[in-house]
Amino acid sequence: MKIQFFGTRGSIPVSDNQTRKYGGNTTCIYVESKDGNPIVIDAGTGIRELGLYLVKNKIQNINLIFTHYHWDHIQGFPFFIPIYIKDTQLQIYGPSKEIEAKKALSYQMAMPFFPALFDGLPSRIVFKTIEKSFTLDHIRVESITNNHPNYTVGLKFTEGGRSFCFLTDNEIYAESHRTSYKSFVDFIKDSDLLIHDAQYDDEAYKVKKGWGHSTYNQVIELVQAAQVKYVVFTHHDPMSSDQFIDKQIGELRTKFPDYKIEAAFDSKKIILE
Ligand SMILES: [Zn+2]
Ligand SMILES: [Zn+2]
Repeated sequence: MKIQFFGTRGSIPVSDNQTRKYGGNTTCIYVESKDGNPIVIDAGTGIRELGLYLVKNKIQNINLIFTHYHWDHIQGFPFFIPIYIKDTQLQIYGPSKEIEAKKALSYQMAMPFFPALFDGLPSRIVFKTIEKSFTLDHIRVESITNNHPNYTVGLKFTEGGRSFCFLTDNEIYAESHRTSYKSFVDFIKDSDLLIHDAQYDDEAYKVKKGWGHSTYNQVIELVQAAQVKYVVFTHHDPMSSDQFIDKQIGELRTKFPDYKIEAAFDSKKIILE
């Protein structure tokens, strides 16, 4: 599997001299199977650039999975060029406990918020609900309910014995939790890689408990408990400068030399084979 980040920022896009290294686009990740079949996760602002890549490479049959429908995970969708091309076949997977994906996307592409209406899109779009486990071509996808203010799913992708988990917008230790700590440990156990929300450091978290996000240290504790040796932090806070993120990563690498610890940045690629 090939993984490429197109958006790694949480909450709102940013663009300033302090955030160039890790990037300012909101959440969007691209996964490609060994056979080249495409899976897009979330439609934050990073999906705009990914759309250009897919069009350029004539990739027309696309799977798009939504973890949830907060702005920072859907706001790039109206700028995803493939949806305006009639030969595009798009399968959209999303949670439907609180709202259907179609409704969430239609609300966004409606007057007076956006001039192009969802119902007028020329591409062929099919909606599917995320199950606990399903298969996209040769990739097995499993889901878990995250701890977040609105219904959100965490995902595990497995192909040919290699797997990674993507859990963003997840508060590992939420007081009123939907999913227990142990269930997260069991879910990510034996994965080659965990990509996890680390929006805050311990100091910021003190006043942001219940907001649905985690800290760098909490994510490290989780990978230790699950014996996952490779961790990539994502969903960086809009207030986190490159310098701040570098400092967090540097300290953790010194403290935990047996782990591969990285922070996601827009365009970062990982190959699991
Ligand atoms: Zn988010
Ligand atoms: Zn969210």
